[in-house]
Amino acid sequence: MATEGVDAVLLSIGADLPYLTGYEAMDSERPTILVVKGSGAPVLVIPVLEAPRVGGGGDVEIKAWAETDDPYALVSAAVGEARRIAVGDQTRAANLLAIQAIVPGATWDRASDLTARLRVQKDPEELELLRAAAHGVDRSLARVPGELRFAGRTEMDVARDLQALTVEEGHEVAAFAIVASGPNGASPHHEPGDRVIQAGDLVVCDFGGRWQGYSSDVTRTFSVGEPSAKQEEVHRVVHAANQVAREAIRPGITCQEVDRAARAVIEEAGFGELFIHRTGHGIGLEVHEHPYMVEGNETPLEPGMTFSIEPGIYLPGEFGVRIEDIVACGPDGVDDLNQADRSLLVVS
Ligand code: ZN
Ligand code: ZN
Ligand code: ZN
Repeated sequence: MATEGVDAVLLSIGADLPYLTGYEAMDSERPTILVVKGSGAPVLVIPVLEAPRVGGGGDVEIKAWAETDDPYALVSAAVGEARRIAVGDQTRAANLLAIQAIVPGATWDRASDLTARLRVQKDPEELELLRAAAHGVDRSLARVPGELRFAGRTEMDVARDLQALTVEEGHEVAAFAIVASGPNGASPHHEPGDRVIQAGDLVVCDFGGRWQGYSSDVTRTFSVGEPSAKQEEVHRVVHAANQVAREAIRPGITCQEVDRAARAVIEEAGFGELFIHRTGHGIGLEVHEHPYMVEGNETPLEPGMTFSIEPGIYLPGEFGVRIEDIVACGPDGVDDLNQADRSLLVVS
């Protein structure tokens, strides 16, 4: 904050607050705002009915507001004379607008400009939680060919099974499961629905959960019955792109170079236009966070950064393939957190 000339940071919902304090605000219309200034105790403005969730509060001064109090007056009092203010990225617009109305003449920045610098580099304890999360979904994946039936069941059925496996293998919650079968696989963020999976389909399964607060996120593409030559060829290209990108990882290489490494393989094979998203995203307390593996991001990798490598090829009306792993940048190269089989596994 001192280096950047920021007088106050306001944090609400999102991962910055739990990262710094261990307390995660409830996502509700009732504002919870932590006010951090260069000196003095941070102040947590919190609904009185949620104050018991905080416990003692430690070094943080708790200002609990009752239903008929004005929480923004408490925020304004804590902000005091501060006028260069950074605000947590996920803070609700309605709350921010109310704060802006009561704190005139201030300039407003994104808190992530400060907090991402702390959060991108995982300490050893965080790294081990992310590794445990990745190994959890790896174990779930290992059970898929033997235990999950695909043909004749809906995407929703399979998504529910994947979420159950995620919890059975140790996650506290299964946060999401994309199951995209046949032509639906061409939509990278397909919402699993009532399409009945058939023999001959490729099925993109992208799922993850939370492990002691940290996230997992993995994708494998399965073939229901023997794949066609074209399905095998596309899978081979995506698999190669995933491997080349992982092997490119080392300290000093930029995020965009990681993206280019994956993209070059897919472009050379003639599918460049069908790889319609960036190669990866950072992961930690949030499933998507800095750093992003995307053209234009010249941030150099540093040991302790954790992110996904998830190239894909999406053929509209036909099928899609994506292979996603979470990796860490180690001191000498890639540290593969996910290690589940990346080949095109046949399921029934
Ligand atoms: Zn995604
Ligand atoms: Zn991902
Ligand atoms: Zn994913």
